[in-house]
Amino acid sequence: MNQVVIIGAGPTGLTLAMLLAQRGIPVALVEASRNFRRTFRGEALMPSGLEAIEQMGLTDLVAQIPHCPLDAWEFIVEQRAIFRVDEPMEPGGQPCTLISQSPFLEGVLAEASKYPNFEFVAGTAVRDLVWQDDRVVGVILSDDRQIGADLVIGTDGRNSIVRDKANLTLATAAQSYDILWFKLASSPQFEAENIFYSVLAGDAGFGLFLGSEGQLQVGWTLHQEGRESKQWQQEDWGAKLAAASPEWLAAVFQQQADAIDRPFLLSVTVGRCPSWHAPGVLLLGDAAHPMSPIRAQGINMALRDAIVAANYLVPVLQQSLTGIDAILPQIQAEREPEIIEIQRLQRAEIAQGELLRNYPPLRYLLSRVVPHIPLLQQRIRQSWIDRQLQLRRGFTQVTLKV
Ligand SMILES: Cc1cc2nc3c(=O)[nH]c(=O)nc-3n(C[C@H](O)[C@H](O)[C@H](O)COP(=O)(O)OP(=O)(O)OC[C@H]3O[C@@H](n4cnc5c(N)ncnc54)[C@H](O)[C@@H]3O)c2cc1C
Repeated sequence: MNQVVIIGAGPTGLTLAMLLAQRGIPVALVEASRNFRRTFRGEALMPSGLEAIEQMGLTDLVAQIPHCPLDAWEFIVEQRAIFRVDEPMEPGGQPCTLISQSPFLEGVLAEASKYPNFEFVAGTAVRDLVWQDDRVVGVILSDDRQIGADLVIGTDGRNSIVRDKANLTLATAAQSYDILWFKLASSPQFEAENIFYSVLAGDAGFGLFLGSEGQLQVGWTLHQEGRESKQWQQEDWGAKLAAASPEWLAAVFQQQADAIDRPFLLSVTVGRCPSWHAPGVLLLGDAAHPMSPIRAQGINMALRDAIVAANYLVPVLQQSLTGIDAILPQIQAEREPEIIEIQRLQRAEIAQGELLRNYPPLRYLLSRVVPHIPLLQQRIRQSWIDRQLQLRRGFTQVTLKV
């Protein structure tokens, strides 16, 4: 029997599987997809996530795959640059870094696969759990095969089936937006420095940066009205992006107007499970606490969940199996305070954007007045930096101890 079965080979499931396999724990990792090349995967990592990567011994892997540090953040309101913040934001700190997630996951899989106690079941979804005496003791795959387990770990993302089948509820926070994602060819303006641009004009808003594999990535905020009308499917996106942009950026979109494909809709779910566990089963990562894309937190939290879970699980799994269920609440108790704080800060960032969106005079003030009053500009810039520092470092000390 496999001691641990992990469902979902995203950042949470794969890194936890690797940590357990390296420490001699028998692990089966089940992934619904056949490969990691899905249309969209987030790729921005904050210093807290980079530190987790270092602790897991994966820094060399990152060096070998497409990655690039961000050089700066710039805010553009009503076609005017408001302020810029260079990376890294703290002296001696690490810059936020874009890491191509598919090769990263492939590399972690290669490392885990070195261990004979690791098994990867790809291209097969889990469709149900196996119960015995009110405890989960395995999973049922889509091809009806069963895998027995002493512990099932659901790392199957925001629409987690493990969560559903274990009757663990998700308390979702109302989300007023989804993201429309575009990938475009790069152009020379973006090559010298990699700047993450946040652009706001009227009620339009988008983020733009040069991704780790050299393509421009644009994430357009699709508010509830637009989502429901489905009008986004008919928009002339080249013109719409250009209209919200300053002249130099509008020219980039106009040049590429023919190449701007229909965008990819990424639904945003944010929430937290009141309980991350039931007898025989534990949820981690987005399955336990789906994260908003704002300020790139989800992968960082995923990696930090994996480290804390390994700290608790390895000693119990290496010695005896008694007491597994008793340590699951301790994993939640250690991780939950950080998740609560990070989600609170993400909400505060979204609220700032909503305020600007809903009050045109504020946008006018920011774009026409503030750039002419350096002291005010400096204050606004500093208040933004102060909010980011906690989002970058995380809230708790996470150290791999096993
Ligand atoms: C638009 C958008 C942009 C984002 N950008 C960033 C970013 O730049 N940086 C950042 O840190 N975070 C970002 N995030 C958040 C981040 O993507 C998630 O928080 C993170 O991927 C969570 O990792 P995970 O391993 O828990 O889940 P996932 O990455 O969702 O992985 C879950 C895995 O489980 C598999 N799976 C699902 N169901 C089953 C099943 N029944 N059986 C078997 N396998 C299954 C899936 O195929 C998948 O591989 C973004 C999110 C969104 C929506």
